[in-house]
Amino acid sequence: MADDPRTPSPTDSPLRPSTIAVTAGRPDPGPDAPLNVPITMASTYGAGGDLEYGRYANPTWTAFEEALGALEGGRCLSFASGLAAVATVLDLVGHGAKVVAPRHSYSGTIMQLADLEARGRARAELVDVTDTDAVVKACDDAALVWIESPTNPALEIADIETITKAAHEAGAYVAVDNTFATPLLQTPLVHDVDLVVHSATKYLAGHSDALLGAICTRDDELFSVLKNRRDLLGAIPGTLEAWLVLRGMRTLHLRVERAQANAQELVRRLEEHPAIAEVRYPGFGGIVSVVLAQGTIAADLLTHKTRLWVHATSLGGVESTLERRRRWKSEAPTIPDALVRLSVGVEDVEDLWDDLRAALDGCVG
Ligand SMILES: *Cc1c(COP(=O)(O)O)cnc(C)c1O
Repeated sequence: MADDPRTPSPTDSPLRPSTIAVTAGRPDPGPDAPLNVPITMASTYGAGGDLEYGRYANPTWTAFEEALGALEGGRCLSFASGLAAVATVLDLVGHGAKVVAPRHSYSGTIMQLADLEARGRARAELVDVTDTDAVVKACDDAALVWIESPTNPALEIADIETITKAAHEAGAYVAVDNTFATPLLQTPLVHDVDLVVHSATKYLAGHSDALLGAICTRDDELFSVLKNRRDLLGAIPGTLEAWLVLRGMRTLHLRVERAQANAQELVRRLEEHPAIAEVRYPGFGGIVSVVLAQGTIAADLLTHKTRLWVHATSLGGVESTLERRRRWKSEAPTIPDALVRLSVGVEDVEDLWDDLRAALDGCVG
C-alpha cells in the first residue's frame, strides 16, 4: 500500500508485509547475538530501568508487539487473550455510553456487550454491518463503533472507510476486529481506524497452541490509556505465549497464502456439491462457511464424518477444522442452524477435498 508508512527498508522504500513478518522484532544483529528474542521468564527486574516489574513489561512481549505493530502500521499492546483485548477496548467508553457493533460479531464480543448492558455500564446497538446506511445512522451519539470484517462466522464485509468517516464525524472511536483478515489482507489503521484488535490465538499464532490478544493504534494518547489499563487490570500475556505467537508469525504470509488458495479451490468445488445449499466466502482469507441443504442433522453428521478435518472450535491453525457454530448457545440466532464453519488449513487441497467430499456424500438427502 503506497500510503502505508511501515518500517523503512535499507533503500528507504517501505518493506513489504512478508519481509516485515520475517524480520520485525528481532534482536540487534552482531557476533553471537541470538537471531530470536529469548523467552524472558522474570516477574521483576533490577530497579532503576524501564521495565521494573513483570506486569508492566517483558522483552518477549515487546518483540511480538514490534512485529505486529509493524504489520498493522501502528503501536501494539499484547493481552492475555483476544477477549481480554476486546474488554479493554470496550472499557474505554464512559458510563452509559453507546457502542455500535455488528449483530454477527464474534459471540464472545456480543456476550461482553450484553454483560455491559445488563449492568447499565453501556448501551449496545447491534447492526447489520453490511447495511452501511444503517450503520452510519447508528453512529450518531455513539462513543465507540465496533467493526468486525469479515464477521465470524457469517463472513459479512463492512465498508470500513465510510463507517469510519461517519463515526469520526459523530465523535466516536472506531475499532476493527482484524482477526479474520490478518494485517496481510487488511490494514484498518491505514484507513484511519483508531484501534485494531486481534485474537492472536488464530492466524497470527497459527498452530492452535497458544492464546493471545493484541490492540494496535497510531494514537499515542489512546496507547497510553490502554497501557495503563493493562498495567492496572493485569490481563497480560504469558511470556511463552508471546514467544510462540511471534514464532508463528514468521510464516504468517506463507500460511495465509496457502490457506486462501486452498479455500478458493474448495469453494469452487463445494458450490457444485448437492449436499450444500449455500457457500459463504468473501473472496479472500481461509474461512469458508457452508449451509447444509438437509439441515442441522446433516450439518452435525458432516462434522462427525470427516477424518482429516478435525471437529473443533477456533480457527486459523495450520490444520483444517470445522464446526457447526449454532451448537453454541451463545451464537447469534440469526446464524443458520445448519451452518458449518470451515477453517481451511495448509494441507494438500486434494486430501482436504477427498475427505470433505466423502463426508458430504453421506449428507445428501
Ligand atoms: C476467537 C476470536 C476472538 C476471541 O479471542 P480469544 O483469543 O479466544 O480470546 C475475538 N474475535 C474473533 C473474531 C475471534 O475469532
